[in-house]
Amino acid sequence: MATEPAQKRKRLCETTTKKICPMIAKNRENTQFATLFDELVTIEVSPEKKLFQIHKGLICHHSEYFRGAFKGGFKESESKLVTLKEEVDHLAFQAFYQWLYTGKIRDDEDEISWEASRDCQFLFNTYIFGDAHGIPDFQNTIVDRMYTSFMDKSAIPVTYIKNLYEHTTKGDNLRRFLVDIFQSMSQCEAVEFFSPSDQDHYPQEFLFELSKALLEDDPGRERPWTMKDWGKLDTCRYHNHKDINAAVTAAPGAEG
Ligand SMILES: [Zn+2]
Repeated sequence: MATEPAQKRKRLCETTTKKICPMIAKNRENTQFATLFDELVTIEVSPEKKLFQIHKGLICHHSEYFRGAFKGGFKESESKLVTLKEEVDHLAFQAFYQWLYTGKIRDDEDEISWEASRDCQFLFNTYIFGDAHGIPDFQNTIVDRMYTSFMDKSAIPVTYIKNLYEHTTKGDNLRRFLVDIFQSMSQCEAVEFFSPSDQDHYPQEFLFELSKALLEDDPGRERPWTMKDWGKLDTCRYHNHKDINAAVTAAPGAEG
């Protein structure tokens, strides 16, 4: 439920018009749409055991995990049913389902009205779901949403950094994005995120990566970007530019 009224919020800075990621566009262009909308399969999402019916071609096209499950010769290929692990957040799956069919992760009204903390939690859980299930274009869409959400709501998701580090691996794009956000802040902006009560929110790996980035940040070297340029940031810097059509063609059972 929305906890803040829909209102115009202060932006950190003005954005330039966002270009469409060229890799997402290429992945869409090169897709044979007739192959996407074939038979229906079912995904069961706990804890409510909610069932989602989805076109097999569509979900297998985008997700390496579901491609393996439905086309890899496992029992799921026969039963046409995948039951997700208990810990999968149902809102994250709902977002994936909506994104598959509309290209959007939720409704416009929710985009505007969700308060910053709820928004951050949703986006982090959704990104982690995408990472665990091999869905690069979905993750890229979430990175773009995070970027605009941080700008709109002027909030940095400190409390969720630990969760991200627990569920992703070294070199992850969102990890890099967060390190660069902190690196791009001025001392006085950054200090408010390092009060004693925040101490437990920062995993050691994050602090190490940030320290390294700051130590390397000498005046002669260009920062990835600074806060005043945030509106011009090209989020492709934090995308996984995977050629999905090539991955689908190379997968076992690709002909089926
Ligand atoms: Zn991109």
